[in-house]
Amino acid sequence: MSGAGHAAAAADPAALDALLDAARRFVRDEVIPHEAALLGGSWEAALPVLEALRARARALGLWAPFLPPSLGGLGLPLDAYARLSEVLGSTPFGLYACNCQAPDVGNMELLHQFGTPAQQAQWLAPLAAGRVRSCFAMTEPGQAGSNPVWLTTRAVRDGDAYVITGHKWFTSSADGAAFAIVMAVTDPDAPPHRRASQIVVPLDAPGYALVRNIPVMGEAGGGWNSHAEVRFDAVRVPVANRLGEEGAGFALAQERLGPGRIHHCMRWIGVAERALALMCARVASRELAPGDPLASRQAVQFWIAESRIAIHAARLMVLDAAGKIARHGQQAAREEVAYIKVFVANMLQQVLDRAVQAHGALGVTDDTPLAWWYRHERAARIYDGADEVHKAVIARRELKPYLRA
Ligand SMILES: Cc1cc2nc3c(=O)[nH]c(=O)nc-3n(C[C@H](O)[C@H](O)[C@H](O)COP(=O)(O)OP(=O)(O)OC[C@H]3O[C@@H](n4cnc5c(N)ncnc54)[C@H](O)[C@@H]3O)c2cc1C
Repeated sequence: MSGAGHAAAAADPAALDALLDAARRFVRDEVIPHEAALLGGSWEAALPVLEALRARARALGLWAPFLPPSLGGLGLPLDAYARLSEVLGSTPFGLYACNCQAPDVGNMELLHQFGTPAQQAQWLAPLAAGRVRSCFAMTEPGQAGSNPVWLTTRAVRDGDAYVITGHKWFTSSADGAAFAIVMAVTDPDAPPHRRASQIVVPLDAPGYALVRNIPVMGEAGGGWNSHAEVRFDAVRVPVANRLGEEGAGFALAQERLGPGRIHHCMRWIGVAERALALMCARVASRELAPGDPLASRQAVQFWIAESRIAIHAARLMVLDAAGKIARHGQQAAREEVAYIKVFVANMLQQVLDRAVQAHGALGVTDDTPLAWWYRHERAARIYDGADEVHKAVIARRELKPYLRA
């Protein structure tokens, strides 16, 4: 079916089911067969395969599902897009194949919602077309990322330019990206939440340097599949590169976070579903003795049942939060978004851990994608708000009526 055909999925449940079926077939028949090679090789070796998969995703009408048709996407609302994210998340490169991978998806949403027409023409159009990649540089090695208003990167106004100086890390996918959206302090004397702005910085600008791709659990990765330490040393960019008004950096970051957490959570549910499927297939075929499969043991059956229950609960919670955002905006769904960020990240790690355990030694090899996810998704409980930060927010709200002012 064409992209235009799948665009009906925005409004029509039957068309959404057809889209999800098309995505399932694409993942099963076209992406998963390349999985081992993509995970086992360098980014450069993976690129031609990924470009071919992207061409297929376009032809199948699966391209940039969250973007409006005017930008080549399907215009899916958040709750429908969430369901597609689960399907595409069941293989490490599924979202990339359809040009809806983090951090580009968040940057595209920001540029679409808050970019000027000139910014959209310069930055959003090539991202939407998949011609370039981007990254988001907020966290700094010297400051606690859990306190998002504590930043030292400065953007100092000089005529019609900003001069940006600072040190960032865990700038995911900076390697090979065309530009970064950089969170920098534009007014250190403003109230904390009005101090910073988001500024688009082309990464060929003089003064920018990628220091290294940071090894994560032993793997530095490359290209989109990496997390960089970067420096900005008096990087000069036009004031016209600022998104929104000066000092609106945090407000824009908040806009990005709600939908971003839905995307991550649904992707994690896709990972968990795949881990459960791999676990079931393995314990059904692995025999402890002739005719005595691992699946006959109650301990293993409990892993399977508990994983299924947790995945089901997680999906209902995330779709509930996504529906609330779609109906009432993300401010109204702040609590639900905090619940899912904690619940789904922990569910994912438990399910992955059980799947690794059920595979025995095979589970810690790279012969299945489980170990790759086990390494890379440990961070799920840290990024986009660590567990403890979300729990503190939830507990504060619960306690509010009981505590004296
Ligand atoms: C794989 C990965 C990708 C990332 N991608 C990006 C990116 O693209 N762009 C970007 O800007 N950043 C990115 N980050 C950074 C991420 O946003 C930060 O790691 C996160 O905000 C936590 O900040 P921190 O690492 O400085 O931990 P800290 O703030 O130093 O916190 C350390 C730990 O302290 C605990 N803690 C924190 N606050 C509290 C509290 N109030 N009460 C109790 N305990 C608490 C938590 O357990 C937390 O894990 C990424 C991180 C990872 C791991």
